[in-house]
Formats: sequence, structure tokens, C-alpha cells
Amino acid sequence: MCRHLGYVGPPASVGELLLRGPHSLRTQSWAPRDMRGGGTINADGFGVAWWGPDPATVTGYRNPDPIWTDPAVEEVLPQLTAQAVLGSVRSATVGMPVQRSACAPFRWKHWAFSHNGVVPQWRSVLTAVLSDLDVAATRAGMTRRYETSHLLEAEALTDSAALWVLLRRLLDPDTPAGLAENPVTALRLLVTTVLHHAPEARLNLLISDGGALWASICYHSLSALVTDEFAILSSEPYDDDPRWQPLPDRMLVHAEPGRLSVEPLELAGSTATESLGS
Ligand code: GLN
Repeated sequence: MCRHLGYVGPPASVGELLLRGPHSLRTQSWAPRDMRGGGTINADGFGVAWWGPDPATVTGYRNPDPIWTDPAVEEVLPQLTAQAVLGSVRSATVGMPVQRSACAPFRWKHWAFSHNGVVPQWRSVLTAVLSDLDVAATRAGMTRRYETSHLLEAEALTDSAALWVLLRRLLDPDTPAGLAENPVTALRLLVTTVLHHAPEARLNLLISDGGALWASICYHSLSALVTDEFAILSSEPYDDDPRWQPLPDRMLVHAEPGRLSVEPLELAGSTATESLGS
């Protein structure tokens, strides 16, 4: 399960965002309301990433213990302000390690990433996805291939960490262009290719570059609260503000202040394999 939350808007307190509302992200760690697919609490650690005035720099804090045991959440994190925040509380999938490096958000360059869900048989499935992306890249004329060893760059031996290795390559401007021209395309390419190999995969992904939020909804819950001033995406609404919008399943989301766009995840021919016509 896991629960995650992203914020983009005027400078806000990092800790306050984790504690905001009667059903805050911290409360959702021990009393989530909409856990689909099993699990009761999110006690296998937590993490938060934040961007200051310079969105090129993202900083993070993670702890493999339950969020409610960490005094920094009330005593330190509220003193930090940020224009964008991505927070996550984790319920480790059975068989996956409980350790700090397996806690989202995972960071890379100016990006941060969280995954709520599971990829069954992730080692073989994500190796096959990597191979599809490699074939697609080669056929698109890209000289740099998705080397098989690439997956070994995963920070932890979990589906989420390996997904991030694949997704960040799609977001990397240093990789010859052609596969993903924007974050929505990157999410679509990755999620539909994983579903091609594992139709039962659960893939609620959430990313930010400090200026906007992008998410995929595949099986788990996600709600949006977007105004002209700020944008929030959250697994569950943290309060009863009537502006919260529960978002439908199988969608891709782009949110920033004054903008919420939601489009279907699946388009004809959107997997790496299909886009090659094979
Ligand atoms: N499979 C991921 C992990 O173990 C995410 C788990 C979840 O969404 N509960 O970290």
C-alpha cells in the first residue's frame, strides 16, 4: 500500500505538510482509510523530499522506522520551508527489505519519486521491461542502450527502486530523445510496458521536479486538491475540504497551481513493444 502526497505552491512548511489535517499523511500511516489489496498500516518507514527556491536542488530525509516514532517530524521538519514537497509512508511488500534505502522518495538530479503498489515477480518482469525499452531505443536510433546492468543501479532490492531506475532513464535529457518527450509520456511508456508483462501490477507512481507533479493511477487511490495558488496530489484527502477530487483509476495526472489534467493511461500502441509495431 503505502500512502504518498505531493505539494507544489507557495513556500510551505515541510513538516506541517506531513501533519496537515485530521487525516494527515502521518495519520494515514497508522489509520489509512482506503487500503486496497491488503495491508493495514504503513509502518515500514517514511521519507520526504523538498525543493527550495532553486528547484534544481532537491533534498531528502528518510527513516526506516514508523513515522510516528520520529521526533524530527514535529521538531525539525516544520522549520524547513519549501515550494514543493513529496512525502511517503511505506508498507513494505512481503519479501522486500525494510531499510532506509528502500523508503521513498527516491531522488535523482532534481527529481523525486514514490511508488504505491507492487510489481509481482519484479525481477523478471522489470528485466523484460528493460529489454523492451532497449529494443525501442535501438530502433528509434538511439546509440545509448538500456544496458542490462542498468537495473543494478537500484538503490534497494525492491520493485519501487528498480522502477525508478527505469523511469529516470526515460526522464534523462542526456539520453538521446525519442522515447519520452515529457513526464506524462515517460509514465505512460513505463506503466503500460510493465502492465504488458504483469497485468496485475499496481502502479501508483508520483514524481515531481519541484515545479509540477505527475502521477499514474493504476489500482490504488489518489485525490487532487488544486487551486490557482497550489496543487496537491494525495493517496487520501487529509481533510474534508470540498475541493478534493477523487481521481478515477487507470489515469495519468499532471498537476500544478491552476492546472489539473487527467488523461487515460492506455492509448492504442503506447507500450514500448506496441509502439514498434511488433
Ligand atoms: N512495493 C513497494 C515497497 O515494498 C511499495 C509498497 C506499497 O505500496 N505498499 O516498497
